[in-house]
Amino acid sequence: MGNIKFKSYSNHNYRKIPQMSLLSEEEKFTIDVVGSVLPFKVNNYVIDELIDWDNFSTDPIYILTFPQKGMLSEKHFAKVANLIKVGADKTEIKKVTDEIRLQLNPAPAGQSSNVPEVNGEKLPGVQHKYRETMLFFPQQGQTCHAYCTFCFRWPQFTQMDEMKFAMKEIELVIEYLKQHTKITDFLFTGGDPMVMKSKIFGAYVDALIDADIPHLKTIRIGTKSLAYWPYRYTHDKDAPELLATIKKAVDMGIHVSFMGHFNHYAELKTKAVKDAIKAIQSTGAIIRTQSPVMRNINADANVWATMWRKQVDLGLIPYYMFLARDTGAQDYFSVPIVEAWDVFREAYKKVSGIVRTVKGPSMSANPGKVQVLGVVKIHGKKYFNLQFVQGRNPDWVGRPFFAKYDEKAIWIDDLYPALGEEEFFFEEYLNRDNKVADEIISNIE
Ligand SMILES: *Cc1c(COP(=O)(O)O)cnc(C)c1O
Ligand code: SF4
Repeated sequence: MGNIKFKSYSNHNYRKIPQMSLLSEEEKFTIDVVGSVLPFKVNNYVIDELIDWDNFSTDPIYILTFPQKGMLSEKHFAKVANLIKVGADKTEIKKVTDEIRLQLNPAPAGQSSNVPEVNGEKLPGVQHKYRETMLFFPQQGQTCHAYCTFCFRWPQFTQMDEMKFAMKEIELVIEYLKQHTKITDFLFTGGDPMVMKSKIFGAYVDALIDADIPHLKTIRIGTKSLAYWPYRYTHDKDAPELLATIKKAVDMGIHVSFMGHFNHYAELKTKAVKDAIKAIQSTGAIIRTQSPVMRNINADANVWATMWRKQVDLGLIPYYMFLARDTGAQDYFSVPIVEAWDVFREAYKKVSGIVRTVKGPSMSANPGKVQVLGVVKIHGKKYFNLQFVQGRNPDWVGRPFFAKYDEKAIWIDDLYPALGEEEFFFEEYLNRDNKVADEIISNIE
């Protein structure tokens, strides 16, 4: 077993990591440059137990956590590299890195336009996009045990305060929940809500339980902690308190689902993660899993088939495969839609029906979660067939629709209607004023 005392590293102190002696000065300089624009954080568990240091430069977990040169455009890289080389002061560097971040689409999928209100007050820590599910970003969960290089929530970690969705007041959240009787799922998200102290998390859950909301059926916890810090459930001082809170919710009849973020089967290999999974399962909670397909990390059907298979062996339920979001270092990580579908299908083909609970590949875009059903040939011509698995308008879900085939397309913005249609069926609605649109949604039966 590794060291169970949490120790984290960022671009300010990563040179103290013993394994850094394996890197050339140039490789370290790359970390300095990219790490000053996109968030970088890693910890002793990831370093000592997950990364294969004999092959670090191609190791998926290394690429998942350590900044890579290709994550910035050549122009942006050169700009920051020059500033660091000439010893520019911090404010000057920050001005440039902030400018670059703004060019990297920091709020994809219209995130900032989903801020709901209750009795005239804004709830900046809440997102309510799909009728049944409310997302809550507790203020104390706005970080992670380590950061993924492809993270789409990265502006929340880079002190760009105006883009944070955090909030404190659970009372308003509960009021909102009470007023929206169609919400069945309450999803704690972040950052990673499991970085919260058990006491704070417990207070939130207690407030939800005490409010006794009949339509609240499920509490979900979106977390990467099983992969990045499994000791959260077994060795952290307040681990027993956390498990007790979860068990309490389960015993009250609430379905508690961990939405575990796993990107590679390497994250499932340690005794620590297996013990953590057992600890969670002992409360009666279920663990579902999700991940994007990422070039340089997991864009390989064998990786997915192995990962899903191992998850099921451990009692986990594969849930979502995503495409790389249109933010941050998307150019470095994204694979074309057609390639992601290929990875999905090849992996899906390899596993038994029990493993095929997974949905994907799916794009979390402004109108909703769009699943790529596949490529269809009609009269010798190829088309994409897609469908919503979640929609701003629930009525869009489960209606297959077509788009022109484009082997280079990587995101829904690259797609165009096919077969004589002038626009996608949902576009007329999307083009209306957002507020009107949201009202329509909340009134749909
Ligand atoms: C993915 C997502 C959810 C949850 O969707 P499910 O399909 O129910 O898992 C809820 N809200 C937002 C904004 C999401 O992106
Ligand atoms: S765990 Fe999720 S929120 Fe945290 S860095 Fe990774 S992708 Fe971002």
